[in-house]
Amino acid sequence: LPELPEVEIVRRGLERVTQGLCVRGAEVLLPRAVAWPAAPVTFIKGITGCMLTGWRRRGKYLFADLTNPVGAPGGCLAVHLRMTGQLLWLRREVPVSGHCRVRFFFDEDRELRFTDQRTFGRVWWVSALEDVAQVVSGVRDLGPEPLSDEFSVAYLHQRLAASRRPVKTALLDQRWVAGIGNIYADEALFLAGIRPETPCDRIGRVRARRLRDAVRAVLTASIEAGGTTFSDYRDVYGGSGRYSEVAWVYGRGEAPCRRCRAPVRRIKLGGRSAHYCARCQR
Ligand SMILES: [Zn+2]
Repeated sequence: LPELPEVEIVRRGLERVTQGLCVRGAEVLLPRAVAWPAAPVTFIKGITGCMLTGWRRRGKYLFADLTNPVGAPGGCLAVHLRMTGQLLWLRREVPVSGHCRVRFFFDEDRELRFTDQRTFGRVWWVSALEDVAQVVSGVRDLGPEPLSDEFSVAYLHQRLAASRRPVKTALLDQRWVAGIGNIYADEALFLAGIRPETPCDRIGRVRARRLRDAVRAVLTASIEAGGTTFSDYRDVYGGSGRYSEVAWVYGRGEAPCRRCRAPVRRIKLGGRSAHYCARCQR
């Protein structure tokens, strides 16, 4: 699934290709891909004629700010890629795949296609009169951005001290910290030297600092590498990321640890796989 680095790479690509452009129209091929407004025709009417002034990211959500044809706020377009969603910048003559759910048309025969094999991805148009946190499900409950000052050692330590859950499960909780999924939870725990099943309240302040720093380090490294490519993640040009080539433990079950050569272990934790090195993580 795309996590913070992959969504950030998509955001940067979208900003590069669509900033300042006007949406000339749209076509909804799968009505339930539009989460809001209820009628796809209202969605299309809402965004048509608007200029995209920029793209923001919050956790794994993408938001395009819109200005309507008379220069007034036009609300925003929100996208969540979920498991297999992609936003691809294409020429209109490129054949439309069977997984295409929404098409956004621009000048010069360009279009942005939202394709999504598993169909869990969603788009929203939030009018200027509506509140994003009310309309876009899940946004209101998001914890701090991991690369922001809000995600401080004091904040993380306080959260950890009040929970007995396995630390890996806590890192995946979007109310604790936004944007982290299975890949970067495993990677950050390796870098911090903490086993994924460790109860949160056994992690003291010193290790909380190591974990906070490790989360930031792996996310930053992955953004620099263009993200991690798994089955469906692609940037807006259809390209893939390189982080999986340098990952410490994620997806490396039984391969030798890059630090100590002991075999990386793969276990089940809360229904998800977790990868760790029994020698490097305590
Ligand atoms: Zn090791």
